[in-house]
Amino acid sequence: MGATDAADRAERTVAVAGASRDPGDRRGRAGAEPGHRRRRSRECRARARGARRDADATALVPAADLARSRGSLGAPGRTDARGDLAADRRDADAVVPDAAAERGRRRDDRARRDPPDRLSSLSESGAHEPGTEAPLGVVLRTTPLRESDLLVVLYTDRHGRVTAVARGARKSRRRFAGALSLLVLSRFQLGRRPRGELWGLDSAEVVREWTQLSSDVVAVAHASYVAELVDALLPVESPEPEALALIVNAWDALAAGGPSPSALRAFEIALLDLAGQRPAIDRCAACGAEIADGAMFDPLRGGAICRACAATSRTAGVRPYDTATRDYLHTIAELGAPLAARAADADPRFTAADRGAARDALVAMVLGVAGRPLRSLEYLAKLGAATRRTRE
Ligand SMILES: [Zn+2]
Repeated sequence: MGATDAADRAERTVAVAGASRDPGDRRGRAGAEPGHRRRRSRECRARARGARRDADATALVPAADLARSRGSLGAPGRTDARGDLAADRRDADAVVPDAAAERGRRRDDRARRDPPDRLSSLSESGAHEPGTEAPLGVVLRTTPLRESDLLVVLYTDRHGRVTAVARGARKSRRRFAGALSLLVLSRFQLGRRPRGELWGLDSAEVVREWTQLSSDVVAVAHASYVAELVDALLPVESPEPEALALIVNAWDALAAGGPSPSALRAFEIALLDLAGQRPAIDRCAACGAEIADGAMFDPLRGGAICRACAATSRTAGVRPYDTATRDYLHTIAELGAPLAARAADADPRFTAADRGAARDALVAMVLGVAGRPLRSLEYLAKLGAATRRTRE
């Protein structure tokens, strides 16, 4: 890459990140490319989403969190919404779905494809009548606020991901009766403050809990990863009917037989799908060809990339993607929900190396979409290393 090229790329990266808003530059650049209108509106939406996310993060996260650096996948040119990447890389052939439109389209697809109770565990909890009762949801994250309050990030069936203030929650545990813990499904009485962005959490009632898992360090780590992933991948206050069912299903999978790598992979695929970023597994993300020998996995281009298209995949996260990894991920995607995907753990066709390669590929994709490191993943990696040491 020449110096001019690098400077040009850096400049465009800044523009994409929204730090530079020179309209002349944008027009000039976009006008030269086909499909610019779509891309520009995508940029606007991506910026809006980014701004919302920033506002959300500012409201929520303690100073230490704000200082978190972007991960290796948050490299120059990377944006949270995958929209701008093709332009950055100049490969016009890449299939670059618009995340928001893609979410809507996939939701319609799913509605046609699956009976609504495919993830049936929620209907037992009364989630099929969302209009009649307080929203059903889980706590994704809590942060101490002032002396006695708690800032709570929830995922609810009716409002999606919301942030609420639980007054007095740190002083009186009784008031929320255990509903503000991980591994608990509750009904939350929410009220908007008159002019504020935050919701008020007035009360909560436990509906189901999986807290018997609390003594299992690895199970808690898996459950935390599930919660952190929802927090990182799904947009604010944009309810996805299946997301809560997916969380419940993942926790059911944990309760059914302990931590399962295949269940986590199923969760990652399903959640990326809900986020409008379903990874390509069997077909090339760039040209649609069937994946065979010599393929690569490129998290920034949407997953599997065929041998021919892989020639233009040169970012740091690109890794070999062999047919065994493809078959393993295909099997998990077919099984669908995390609880069902547990079966792939014991499938004799796949080796530990296949499972490891699949994990690394999906985790790279998840981190790329999240655009930041995930604490629970770092913790899981440490636990994994510790377990391997004990076994050796
Ligand atoms: Zn291809």
